[in-house]
Amino acid sequence: MDFARRGVMLVIASPSGAGKSSISRSLFAQDPNIRLSVSVTTRARRNDEVDGTHYYFIDVPTFERMKADDELLEWAKVHDNYYGTPRAKVEEQLLAGNDILFDIDYQGTLQLYEKSRADMVTVFILPPTIEELRARLERRAQDSVGTIEKRLRNAKLEMQHYNEYDYVIVNDDLEASSQKVRTILAAARLARLRWTELDSFVDDLQDQIDRL
Ligand code: 5GP
Repeated sequence: MDFARRGVMLVIASPSGAGKSSISRSLFAQDPNIRLSVSVTTRARRNDEVDGTHYYFIDVPTFERMKADDELLEWAKVHDNYYGTPRAKVEEQLLAGNDILFDIDYQGTLQLYEKSRADMVTVFILPPTIEELRARLERRAQDSVGTIEKRLRNAKLEMQHYNEYDYVIVNDDLEASSQKVRTILAAARLARLRWTELDSFVDDLQDQIDRL
């Protein structure tokens, strides 16, 4: 038996190239209840990215304006660019019982912990080896050699934060890792705090005992 429930805020973080995007795609492909939180960013759009789908690409003044108007649930500067989560829609989706996937870094995760810990489950993805991480960044080949080096150095810093997450997955097999995230999400959906009508259900059971 299922009760109406509040959505889960699922945060998946990893150094770039650890496989987070592939895992996220696999989740969306198999689960219609998950929505992606589309961030705003001041970074340049990559060739295969679509405005409004992967990010909302905005300029720095627009980002500053959104920040000043408290339109961002969290924000951070990553690789010299600004990124942020638009507040609108998040609460609406959670109330509607839809789960939201956040692809944000550790700085954003810490900000969300302060406001929304009870709604969150967080997963950190690690690459199996650094050779594999570099190979994935090179295969992606969207970034210049200098940018790849910078992302590798940044990966080292980002990895320091693995212990701030609820779960850690070493991604040596995409399908197995995706399955692990699905299991984590399935458990989070069943957490007692998610069930919005549980109190009244238990009250009703107790009333039935009284009436026996
Ligand atoms: P990329 O430029 O490769 O798309 O993303 C770079 C990093 O920025 C990734 O680690 C990604 O998780 C992070 N990121 C993307 N959107 C947001 C956001 O809205 N907030 C925060 N804090 N980090 C973000």
